[in-house]
Amino acid sequence: KKELLKVEGLKQYFPIKGGMMGRTVNHVKAVDDISFTIYEGETVSIVGESGCGKSTTGRAILRLEEPTEGSITFDGHELTTLSKREMRKLRKDLQIIFQDPYASINPRQTVANLLNEAMTIQKVVPAKDRRKRIIELLETVGLNEYQADRYPHEFSGGQRQRIGIARALSVKPKLIICDEAVSALDVSIQAQVLNLLKELQEDFNLTYLFISHDLGVVRHISDRVIVMYLGKIVEIGDKYSIFENPKHPYSKALLSAIPIPDPTRVKKHIVLTGDVPSPIDPPAGCRFHTRCPFAQDICKVEEPKLFTHDSMIDGHQAACHFVEEIENGDLQAKGFEE
Ligand code: SF4
Ligand code: MG
Repeated sequence: KKELLKVEGLKQYFPIKGGMMGRTVNHVKAVDDISFTIYEGETVSIVGESGCGKSTTGRAILRLEEPTEGSITFDGHELTTLSKREMRKLRKDLQIIFQDPYASINPRQTVANLLNEAMTIQKVVPAKDRRKRIIELLETVGLNEYQADRYPHEFSGGQRQRIGIARALSVKPKLIICDEAVSALDVSIQAQVLNLLKELQEDFNLTYLFISHDLGVVRHISDRVIVMYLGKIVEIGDKYSIFENPKHPYSKALLSAIPIPDPTRVKKHIVLTGDVPSPIDPPAGCRFHTRCPFAQDICKVEEPKLFTHDSMIDGHQAACHFVEEIENGDLQAKGFEE
């Protein structure tokens, strides 16, 4: 398997200005030292509640924000040190699809103009062949040539998202970051768009980074899943490990909030209480300790590292001091359990 994207020690801190001098008085630690690898042709999802750093991670990879620290290697290039010009060239390989297709599509442009614009900027198709290519792209995403000269408002939400996908595809990318790409759509339309994304992945050897708070969607589309909490990765593993055998109490809590096909498979129901603490002053030790039903004294001081514990298979890692004790039932949940 070829490594397409490797993120190492990524931090994204946003300064908070204050006082009369407008000095930086603190930072929002939106992403705080995360590392992961995405292999060519796979779909990796990042899940977590809003504010956990999912979107910030996506934006940092595209350098829509300059990362505070860390390394991002894409297809052999270190992105964090590329000049703006070099980055622009590489941007054709790295596309993003957002949640609200309307917001990211210029309403005064026909669909053909929109696709033409993307191809012009990246010079991927000679001008004389573009009309043909536009029709081909529309057909690829389930639209047709008669829709080429229409405006975005003439399309439904699902169709607009198909246009967004066509636009991303028009420059022949390698990696597409989907940031809540189907979250605004009705469930039945969601499924159609997800199936389209899967087909396109096979046809064009695409790699996806899928950012979503919707675990149903993540379950449908992912090969591997990253669970984030307050700027940290708390668990990573293949889809089956995460959904059938979650080890981190936060993952267990997230998963017990969704209806599952076979409820007997989840032994204990963990209910998340309280709010996510502020990313300005995140809790010391394990960041989840203020909401964790298993928290012990050590959790308040010592940060757990991602680790493959005895009861886990290769490639599955969780950042919790007590994976085995929780697994064996030696540590009982306090309070928060149903
Ligand atoms: Fe809970 Fe402690 Fe594990 Fe953190 S390290 S998830 S607080 S048991
Ligand atoms: Mg977001």
